[in-house]
Amino acid sequence: MDCEEFRRFGHTLIDWIADYRRDCAQGVFPVMSRATPGAVRSQLPSGPPLEREPMDEILADLARVILPACTHWQDPRFFAYFPANSALAAVLGDLASTGLAQLGLNWQASPALTELEEGVTDWLRQMMGLSPGWSGVIQDTASTATLVALLCARERATDYGAAHGGLQASPVPLTVYLSSQSHSSVEKAALLAGFGRDNLRVIPVDEQYRMRPDALQAAIAADVRRGARPCALVGTVGSTATTAIDPLADLAALAESHGLWLHVDAAMGGSAMILPECRALWQGVESADSLVVNPHKWLGAAFDCSVYYVRDPQHLIRVMSSSPSYLRTAADEAVTNLRDWGIPLGRRMRALKLWFLIREQGVAGLAARLRRDLEHARWLADRIDATEHWRRLAPVPLQTVCVRHEPPGVAGDALDRHTLAWARRVNESGRAYLTSALLDGQWMVRISFGVEGTERHHVEALWALLQEVVRAA
Ligand SMILES: *Cc1c(COP(=O)(O)O)cnc(C)c1O
Repeated sequence: MDCEEFRRFGHTLIDWIADYRRDCAQGVFPVMSRATPGAVRSQLPSGPPLEREPMDEILADLARVILPACTHWQDPRFFAYFPANSALAAVLGDLASTGLAQLGLNWQASPALTELEEGVTDWLRQMMGLSPGWSGVIQDTASTATLVALLCARERATDYGAAHGGLQASPVPLTVYLSSQSHSSVEKAALLAGFGRDNLRVIPVDEQYRMRPDALQAAIAADVRRGARPCALVGTVGSTATTAIDPLADLAALAESHGLWLHVDAAMGGSAMILPECRALWQGVESADSLVVNPHKWLGAAFDCSVYYVRDPQHLIRVMSSSPSYLRTAADEAVTNLRDWGIPLGRRMRALKLWFLIREQGVAGLAARLRRDLEHARWLADRIDATEHWRRLAPVPLQTVCVRHEPPGVAGDALDRHTLAWARRVNESGRAYLTSALLDGQWMVRISFGVEGTERHHVEALWALLQEVVRAA
C-alpha cells in the first residue's frame, strides 16, 4: 500500500468508524453480540491468501464478518463488567501513535515518546490530587502493574535477592495479603511472582465488602508467630464485584508498622479521584508504595492504557533494569529510559491517547461526565430501594449498582435460577447488557454505568426493562 492508497482507504475507514459510533449511540445493534460459537471462524478461509486482495474487499468483510460478532462496548445501553470507554479523541491518539510507529527502546529511540509519557502521567497525577512524590509510567494493563508491584515488594524484602539465589535462597516464606474481594489479577500476580499459594492470605471483608483491618492485623501477627515474613499488602479502590473501597489509612498504618509493601489497585476507582469530592474515599493513598489506575476504563483512554505510579522510581529501576550494550546511549545519564520501568522492552506511544483525550475534553469535561455517571448510579439505587421486591446488595460509592429481584417465597437455588433467568433475558433482548456475579455465594446482577453516551433516559429505559423482564420470569 502506498501513501496515496493509504490516504484513500484511511478516509473510508474513518468514515466507517464514525458511522459505527453513530449507530452505536443510536442503539442500532443488539448490545450483546448474537454470534454463536464458531460463527467467525466458519467464515474465514482456513489459510491465508497467497495473492494480494483488494482493500475494498477487506473493508467490506469488516462489516460482513467482524461487526456481527462484536459486542458493543460503546453502546449507551452497555452496563456490563466495567466500562471501557474509547473516546473518539483517544481513538485518534491511538491512530497517531500507530502512524508515527515509534518504538521507545530508550530515550534516544524516541525522545517524544518518553517525555510525553512523563508529562501526561504527571498531569493525571495532578488531576487525581496526588502529591508530587509519585512518578508514573504507562503499562498495558493493571494486571501487569500489579505483577510489577509484587516483584518490587519481593525484591525489597529480600534485599534484591533476584541478583543472588532469588526466593529459593530464602529460608523464611514471604507472605502476601489481599482481600476476598480483590481482583483475580492480584492472586495471579502473586503466583507469578513466586510467592506460592500457601503464602497468600485472603483477608475477610466487612458488611460493605471492605478489607477488615482487624482481620488483617491478626493474620500478620499469626504469620510473624510462625516465622514467616509479611511482605506485601494489596488494597483495592473500587472492587470488581461491588466497587468497595478498602480503608487505605488503616491498611497503610499496618503496612508501615510491619514493613509491608502497600500496593493500591485503583484500576477502576482511580478515575473518580479526579473529582475532589471523592478523594476522601482513598484517604491514606499517599502512604502507599505503588498504585495502579486504568484510564482505559471509565476515563476513556481506549484500551490499553494503565498508569502505574511509584514513590521510589530508583527501586523500580533497580528491579526492572537491563542494560545490554546495544541499548546504551550517551544520553543515558540525563534521561529516563522507560524500558527500566516495567517488563517489556519495546513500548509504543500510548501517552498520545491520554494527551489527546485530556486536551480535547479538558479536566472539567472529564469531571462533568464522571459526576453524571455517579448520579446515574444514585438514581437507579434510589429506585431500587423504593421498589418492592427489589434489593440493593451493597453500598454504591462509585458507579456500579448490585441488585437482586427477590419475589416473596423465592430463595436459595430458586432465587439463583430467577436471577440468572432475568439477567439472560435482558442480555438476549439486545436492549441492554449487564453482568451477573456471585456475591456471598448467591447470584446477583451488577449494573455498571460509565459509557460515554449513557444519558438519564437510557437509565430510565433500563429500569423499565428490568421490571418488564422480572414480570416475565
Ligand atoms: C479491571 C480491573 C483489573 C484488571 O485490569 P486489566 O487492566 O484488564 O488487567 C484489576 N483490578 C481491578 C480492581 C479492576 O477493576
